[in-house]
Amino acid sequence: MRSYRTLGPVRAVTFDLDDTLYDNTPVIAAAESWYEAALACHPMLRSSELRLCPGRVRRMVLREFPELEHDVTLLRAEILTRIFLDAGLAPADARREGELMTRRFIQVRSAFRIPPETFAILRNLGRRYPLVALSNGNMDPVRTGISSFFRSCIMAGGGRRAKPAPDLFAQAAALAGVEPGQILHVGDDPETDILGARNAGMQTCMICPRGLFCRPERVRLLPDLVIRSLKELELVLL
Ligand SMILES: [Mg+2]
Repeated sequence: MRSYRTLGPVRAVTFDLDDTLYDNTPVIAAAESWYEAALACHPMLRSSELRLCPGRVRRMVLREFPELEHDVTLLRAEILTRIFLDAGLAPADARREGELMTRRFIQVRSAFRIPPETFAILRNLGRRYPLVALSNGNMDPVRTGISSFFRSCIMAGGGRRAKPAPDLFAQAAALAGVEPGQILHVGDDPETDILGARNAGMQTCMICPRGLFCRPERVRLLPDLVIRSLKELELVLL
């Protein structure tokens, strides 16, 4: 554990989800492999060339609708709709199939076990602090069982801009019923979590499992606290 600033009083804790409360890297890699295979083998998509280059479609969609950067679920559904359209489906059918495959993707990317130690730590912290989860991703918190530990899980999208924009942080402070300065935000990303939370007026804790900043070139602002594991958070907060 390393402290760069002395923490002030903490009355609520917010958490990022991916790579903060579980290792998301293998989870998302497996889900993306499923997605690529599902596109390549889909019986309705045989005539579409675009099915083999979803990255290109993504760039096209974002050029047209840059606001979808803030909503990974709608973005994926739009990409898939374009691919189904390219395969010759009618617009309404393409949209339906795109949404269906997006829902399946979310199921696949949410079909993993969160470490029981994480649940135990959240349970302990939750006895003392209001806890709120903030995520730019689309893991299903109900399916993974993590939603029950939080007062709310606020996901980017649906009009809420993704972190580091202030939207999720401001909503969390309102939900917790405390001033932003009384919140400790815990996350793994130097920009979306640390810079975003600091700009929103919160205190910040960065989780670095190897003890070092994983991507030092992206660290523009030192967090108040650096921890290697969630267990260390208990030492600080309980
Ligand atoms: Mg993260």
